[in-house]
Amino acid sequence: MEMNLKGLNALVTGASRGIGRQIAIQLARSGANVIVNYNKSKKIAEQLCFDLQQKYNIKALAIQADIGNKNDVDRLVSTACSNFNKIDILVNNAGICCDMELCDRTVGCFEKTFQTNLFGVYQLTKILGAKMKENQFGKIVNVSSNNSINGFYPTTIDYDASKSALNSLTKNFAIELAPYVNVNAVAPGWIDTDMNKDVLTPDVAELEAKRILKNRIGTPEDVANLVLFLISKESDYITGQIIAVDGGMF
Ligand code: NAD
Repeated sequence: MEMNLKGLNALVTGASRGIGRQIAIQLARSGANVIVNYNKSKKIAEQLCFDLQQKYNIKALAIQADIGNKNDVDRLVSTACSNFNKIDILVNNAGICCDMELCDRTVGCFEKTFQTNLFGVYQLTKILGAKMKENQFGKIVNVSSNNSINGFYPTTIDYDASKSALNSLTKNFAIELAPYVNVNAVAPGWIDTDMNKDVLTPDVAELEAKRILKNRIGTPEDVANLVLFLISKESDYITGQIIAVDGGMF
């Protein structure tokens, strides 16, 4: 879908790799200026911004912030707002998943998962959503998971709960920020990224693909296409929704 987002400013969290990176690329390709948030991969994030600016003639800026940390999120917002006069699009993509048996899990792991997968979304949406509401325009997309709907695995019990809570945040913020700001979530199934590199071995991938109606593991593009649609004018009447992009998994 051809889309014109020229003049709009977008912030994507965890955008140095995987799904977030692909969303940043597609936003830039559509003409939006992009803020690439990263936690540790400074060089990769800065290179991505350089490439996007060269290729698509847009403004791109890499900003470090651990989105699970309040001071970092506050700094991310103030740096973003001082470099761009407004933020029109927020994609809450950053997330972590520690895959392990329940008996091996710690409280620390639970806390870190919730802090990363939820706190940043809450804080960023609260602050930037209020500004969008004032501007009477905004698009917010949260990257949830189909584990939040019908694909529960005890080995990702904290992650699944955090993504279910993310769906709840999505609906509450959609109500709070209506009618000018759309807030939706995408719920990917198996996507081929570094997050799954230890779990999705070729054997497991083959087995899992058999459970998927489309007979394949998804790609970051599959997810980014839906995110871009939810940012486009064409999806203006869609808000407060959790939309699966999992190739058909039941
Ligand atoms: P990924 O591990 O490749 O990317 C996650 C990104 O988030 C990385 O860039 C990482 O640095 C960043 N990040 C992690 N913690 C951070 C923090 N504290 N502060 C800032 N950035 C941080 O994985 P991905 O598959 O691209 O995941 C992107 C999103 O998609 C996540 O929210 C994930 O839960 C969700 N998701 C992925 C899949 C999948 O199968 N890959 C399925 C469903 C949902």
